[in-house]
Amino acid sequence: MTQEEVFKQLTAHAKEYGFVFPSSEIYDGLSAVYDYGQMGVELKNNIKKYWWDAMVRLNENIVGIDSAIFMHPKIWQASGHVGAFNDPLIDNKDSKKRYRADVLIEDYIAKLEEKINKDVEKGRRKFGESFDEAQFRATNPNVLRNQQKMDEVRERMTAALNANDLQGLRDIIIDCGIVCPISGTKNWTEVRQFNLMFSTQLGNISGEDGIIYLRPETAQGIFVNFLNVQKTGRMKIPFGIAQIGKAFRNEIVARQFIFRMREFEQMEMQFFVRPGSELEWFAKWKETRLQWHKALGLGDEKYRFHDHEKLAHYANAATDIEFEFPFGFKELEGIHSRTDFDLGNHQKFSGRKIQYFDPETGESYTPYVVETSIGLDRMFLAVLSAAYCEEKLENGEERVVLRIPPVLAPVKLAVLPLVKKDGLPEIARDIIDDLKFDFNCQYDEKDSIGKRYRRQDAIGTPFCITVDHQTKEDNCVTIRDRDTMSQERIPVAEVGRIIRERTDFRTVMKKLNKIG
Ligand code: ATP
Repeated sequence: MTQEEVFKQLTAHAKEYGFVFPSSEIYDGLSAVYDYGQMGVELKNNIKKYWWDAMVRLNENIVGIDSAIFMHPKIWQASGHVGAFNDPLIDNKDSKKRYRADVLIEDYIAKLEEKINKDVEKGRRKFGESFDEAQFRATNPNVLRNQQKMDEVRERMTAALNANDLQGLRDIIIDCGIVCPISGTKNWTEVRQFNLMFSTQLGNISGEDGIIYLRPETAQGIFVNFLNVQKTGRMKIPFGIAQIGKAFRNEIVARQFIFRMREFEQMEMQFFVRPGSELEWFAKWKETRLQWHKALGLGDEKYRFHDHEKLAHYANAATDIEFEFPFGFKELEGIHSRTDFDLGNHQKFSGRKIQYFDPETGESYTPYVVETSIGLDRMFLAVLSAAYCEEKLENGEERVVLRIPPVLAPVKLAVLPLVKKDGLPEIARDIIDDLKFDFNCQYDEKDSIGKRYRRQDAIGTPFCITVDHQTKEDNCVTIRDRDTMSQERIPVAEVGRIIRERTDFRTVMKKLNKIG
């Protein structure tokens, strides 16, 4: 199966098992908007908890807030979003489809990279054991030609983006002969800037003055509360403020399921530091965040850093943590050194002094900021795509199993009476009553045990407990492990301890280091 097919299956599976539904489905859906179902919301809540605890619980000097989605419109002028939160868009006149010019070019670069990788694989097959990949890449004429083309195009694109040169972007599209994936033609419009913020109107003010925006990032709610939190929490620099909440972007290209949505959730943390120390903190946060990802055990090789060539208007260093999604390595989280841009501008635009008096140096200054920003929905997709697995079993049967890290699994434990009679359901219910406040448990008595196991595999439940006739005599149950499918007989009194040991947030938390 190709990666594309796997991704299609995954999307269908997410719907079939109550993880993610298209929004407004009975009205044929709303593009790039999704609803989370009964399983999805549990997984999402667990990811949030993992992030929140790793920020706010683990670190004494990080606290959380929950600011409003609507904010004073001037905030978006101060932050630069009214003027500069644009994507360069281009339309194909034949298909009437709209694209981000930079994404079209990036896709073209990705195709060149694919060609190179194919040539390398060919070489590997041809030369067998003696194959030296580095030498092949440095000498093979096809690889060198494509690599040079890739470098040239990337360089031109970076220069055009940095200079806001829209004609330059269009020239690249024309020069590379990029065609519309729908119509297959090169009949392109000019490239225009498109602001990504959604706007709406306040009820009691008419006209321009009443326009407010749906926040395109949660960060600004943190900046404008900097003084409130610093003073009321008696916070000393360095310290951080964390927030989880909705953000809205009128994305031009909405695709790849929940990877790019118009309404999504962010988990952002702004870390306020002494001016001059920001790059040191930036480096620490890069490592800290990568460790957070790796501790889940989705596979260390699935992550890589991508340092930005084009820095946003507010940053003096920026990197992405990229994750290997089924459609390739893509941004999962951004880490940005945002300088004093935001606090400085809010000081200017609001006329309020936003400074910190440093008792150690006796100086007042505008703090610098290092931000970590991760999309909750993208993280959800990363977990789901790494977890999704179609397996052929020894007995010839097939199963779909979600190998979700147990700590994040929506349901931790399923309790299954072998038959619907002889007092077994009652025992199963008693076990659930005892454990349901500690873990999300499911009771299932319908169909054969095998079918019930498959249903639990499909939603990623790490453990199933079977209650059988012998339970009535020895007070023991069979515990089945989702991944190994091995079964073990354990006393009922031990169930809670075993599940806790293997699904407790503590276990992952202990792998993490505090910042500092
Ligand atoms: P991209 O380059 O993919 O558009 P970005 O660089 O604009 O992303 P940031 O502004 O750095 O993204 O936002 C931080 C994080 O928020 C991203 O790393 C991503 O996980 C998430 N995110 C951004 N836009 C979306 C979206 N439209 N849908 C879902 N998640 C998003």
